[in-house]
Amino acid sequence: MNIRYLGTAAAEGWPALFCSCPICTHARAQGGKNLRTRTQAILNGELLIDFPPDTYCHALQYGLELSKVRTLLVTHSHMDHWFPTDLIHRHEHFGHGATGTLEVYGNQAVKDAFDAHILIDRFQSHPIDGVVNVHVICGGDRIQVNGWEITAVPADHDKREECLVYICKKDGKTIFYGHDTGVNLSPRAWALITAERYDLVSLDATMGKKAVPGYHMGLPNDEDMFQRLTELGCVDEHTVKVINHFSHNGEMTHEQLTAWGAERNILAAYDGMGLEF
Ligand SMILES: [Zn+2]
Ligand SMILES: [Zn+2]
Ligand SMILES: [Zn+2]
Repeated sequence: MNIRYLGTAAAEGWPALFCSCPICTHARAQGGKNLRTRTQAILNGELLIDFPPDTYCHALQYGLELSKVRTLLVTHSHMDHWFPTDLIHRHEHFGHGATGTLEVYGNQAVKDAFDAHILIDRFQSHPIDGVVNVHVICGGDRIQVNGWEITAVPADHDKREECLVYICKKDGKTIFYGHDTGVNLSPRAWALITAERYDLVSLDATMGKKAVPGYHMGLPNDEDMFQRLTELGCVDEHTVKVINHFSHNGEMTHEQLTAWGAERNILAAYDGMGLEF
């Protein structure tokens, strides 16, 4: 299986849109891997996870043919993960040759945001209910779609909605995609996560050097969670360990994140990073 990290920043981007802090100033000066767009990933070039406003630039940058993607998992309705307006462009009027349907899975807030942005007067002449299906799912749901077996896991994130992280399986490989979440996972979530052995685990690292009590994670939280998963046999020496979804508020540069990871056999994701596992 392979994963490509298309975007690796938190909501404000990296450098952040309106920020002049030392981390953002460093990122602007250095460029390259210091420039991060909003979080999105694709598995085997076919299973898309999240749909941020940067999806368009990811398609350009990485030559993605999104008309071929049939499955989209959405973690939650925050704007860095869900910009539903752009899905109007899957209508035949804008997306010629985009055949079949795009099956979208997300919580009720994801569906509500989709309806609010798509079911508007201006788009009435281009209905997309025949080409985009939004399915409302809950934590604990298991989905079989296009050869994938997906488990939705309730995250420790914005309590105004049931944010989800995902276990994705195909061809004997299993990945845990854990963005956005903190470590205060419910017993139900832990039971789902620890029932698997992983080939790749991708954990939230929004808060960088800071340990935080929940909602997101910092590197001390990541280290604890990897340790716990290792003790339970869910992670072992063959598991690819990744940290992702970074904010300048974590007060670490890309180089510092990479150096921290190198000492612990953990990869700090960057935009465009591809991994085979
Ligand atoms: Zn986020
Ligand atoms: Zn900043
Ligand atoms: Zn979020």
